[in-house]
Amino acid sequence: MARPFKCPYCGGTRTIWKGFRPLQQGKVRLRKCKDCGRKFKTRKMVI
Ligand SMILES: [Zn+2]
Repeated sequence: MARPFKCPYCGGTRTIWKGFRPLQQGKVRLRKCKDCGRKFKTRKMVI
């Protein structure tokens, strides 16, 4: 569970958990990057 996730914008690994966002196809994980401050979504464990 403690797998570092890279920010797709700046490549930083200091991302923080922002919770779930339910969609029709399943759950999407919201994360925020501490380095660049941008938010992004991840689906499951695959990019
Ligand atoms: Zn970033």
